[in-house]
Amino acid sequence: MKKATRRQTKAHNDRLILKTIYDKGEISRADIARLTGLTRTTVSDAVAAWMGNGLVAEVGVGRSARGKPPILLSVVDDARHLIGIDLADNVFRGAVVDLRGGIRCRHSLPVDERDGDAALAVVYELVGELVAAASSSILGIGIGAPGLMDPRRGVVRNAVNLDWHDLPLGYLLEERYQLPVYIANDCQVAALAECTFGRGRDVSNLIVIQVGRGVGAGIVLNRSLYCGDGCGAGEIGHVKFVDPGDRCRCGHRGCLETLVSTRAIVRRARAIALDDPGSALHRFAVEPGAIDLDAVFGAFQAGDEQVRSAIADVARVLGRAVAGLVCTLNVECVILAGRVTRFGQEWVELIRDEVGRAALAALADETQIQITELDADIVVLGAAALILSHELGLV
Ligand SMILES: [Zn+2]
Repeated sequence: MKKATRRQTKAHNDRLILKTIYDKGEISRADIARLTGLTRTTVSDAVAAWMGNGLVAEVGVGRSARGKPPILLSVVDDARHLIGIDLADNVFRGAVVDLRGGIRCRHSLPVDERDGDAALAVVYELVGELVAAASSSILGIGIGAPGLMDPRRGVVRNAVNLDWHDLPLGYLLEERYQLPVYIANDCQVAALAECTFGRGRDVSNLIVIQVGRGVGAGIVLNRSLYCGDGCGAGEIGHVKFVDPGDRCRCGHRGCLETLVSTRAIVRRARAIALDDPGSALHRFAVEPGAIDLDAVFGAFQAGDEQVRSAIADVARVLGRAVAGLVCTLNVECVILAGRVTRFGQEWVELIRDEVGRAALAALADETQIQITELDADIVVLGAAALILSHELGLV
């Protein structure tokens, strides 16, 4: 380790001051100095610089027991816009996001997954639309993509669904839009979204488990995203759970994903419908081949016994996976996201029961398992948080 240069120290302190203003909402210069241990001069100089580039503004006066009431400072939410992109589904989604995670506009485009070049063209079109829609200067582009990423090089190492292998997506977008680009796995950015804008704002450690077409976990430890040595931390979807089991997209059989993903649920529901002419599923789809997650949810709500039993099985298997994570990392905040969360609180209780059965009791009892409040925006917001983290140090 080397001693920090004066310039590095200044940059660090400037970011610390901005982050203190961001975290506190409204705060005076004197309180920043007190909280950070920096001198009033250092704080005043940094605040002047942040005000100079529009990121911070004076927003009113606070109370004071004696003397002049202090002027309060706040981060200007719309001072910069962030472009967040979610490539995890067969519809690419994106949004222009403000510095507080407020969504200024959304855009989405369907994609043909089998054609890697066509998928890349859709990314360009989506980013282009959003760049044009932003009404403030853009701080950067953040991407949450499925598969294995190399965030340091901005390379998609392997996204099987999109037929992308060693694609330098970060470089391509930087060249095209002349903006900083940050890329990470969709589940990993979902975890960043929770700790920046969601339920995880006040915790040090959390795990987000995304269950949609794919299954994966994002892990935040000490408020930093933990990606692992090969950037594959949290790839729980491809751990074998049954033997031999169904064939998985990864080439193996019996992976967690083949049991709990939306595809797995729909496949199981179609089998139920084919087998049982009296199934409630027939009310929600013209024929078994047309059953989708909406139809499964309809039959679940209508109280169809077989469908409810299938969803309970999904919860139990997922509970085992959560138990493994809880015992490995002892993280007390577990947040569930993705389309499967629509099965609601009853489904979460079943997962919690299974964690209680499968994990060390003392650890399971202390673990909170909740559904995200960020809904379908979680990856878009996480991609935006990735920019905030790198460009301003606000995460
Ligand atoms: Zn697999």
